[in-house]
Amino acid sequence: MTQKALLDALLDDVSAHPGAIVVFDLDDTLFSTADRHLRILEEFAAAIQTQDARAAGVLRGISREQLMYSVADTAKAHGLDEKLAKDLRGFWFARFFKNPYLLEDSIIPGGPEYAAEVIARGGRSFYMTGRDEGMREGTEASLLRHKFPEPDGKKAALVLKPRFDEPDFEFKVEALRRIGEQGPVVGSFENEPKHVNLFIERFPKGKHFLLDTKHSGRPVTPHSATLHIKDFRR
Ligand SMILES: [Mg+2]
Repeated sequence: MTQKALLDALLDDVSAHPGAIVVFDLDDTLFSTADRHLRILEEFAAAIQTQDARAAGVLRGISREQLMYSVADTAKAHGLDEKLAKDLRGFWFARFFKNPYLLEDSIIPGGPEYAAEVIARGGRSFYMTGRDEGMREGTEASLLRHKFPEPDGKKAALVLKPRFDEPDFEFKVEALRRIGEQGPVVGSFENEPKHVNLFIERFPKGKHFLLDTKHSGRPVTPHSATLHIKDFRR
């Protein structure tokens, strides 16, 4: 089946079940985090410019396509040493989850229109993310800026982790239990195979999609029922 046929089939399921819920992950599912990574690399390069101009130049030369899931791995793949990679990782960690940086993100093509179409068909779009409550402000601003349906808690809702240090997987298990009580979950979108498998296990009748963007590299094989797409264009 083509990407269009797969995405259309889920919309047909939404039409057939009034109030149906479609769950969307955010990072590397609806949003590309590449520009957020690049901004932090640029700021780190500026910070080390006087002490190590060569490394700063290498970091500035890294393109979107060369980014790996871990910023330390990106640095090491470009020949930078352990010490610098470790410093960069600390610098990155202090910024990547902060509200102003969330506004750097671009969208995975077709996402805003697809989330809106779910609602137009009588369904609900739930954004369920490993971002925590401290990131609500930047997340809401980013959703609005890119014209996603506004998460008003009715047709669209934003479900964030209560605490930053809560593991994403455990949070999603519990959040899905609560979302499942609010209506039929007919589909989901994720970039982590482990999370897609959780959706399939929890809602076996739904259509569950894995975005071919990037993931944490955990060695998890996607369930055979997983539907694969590149983005949300139909
Ligand atoms: Mg994600």
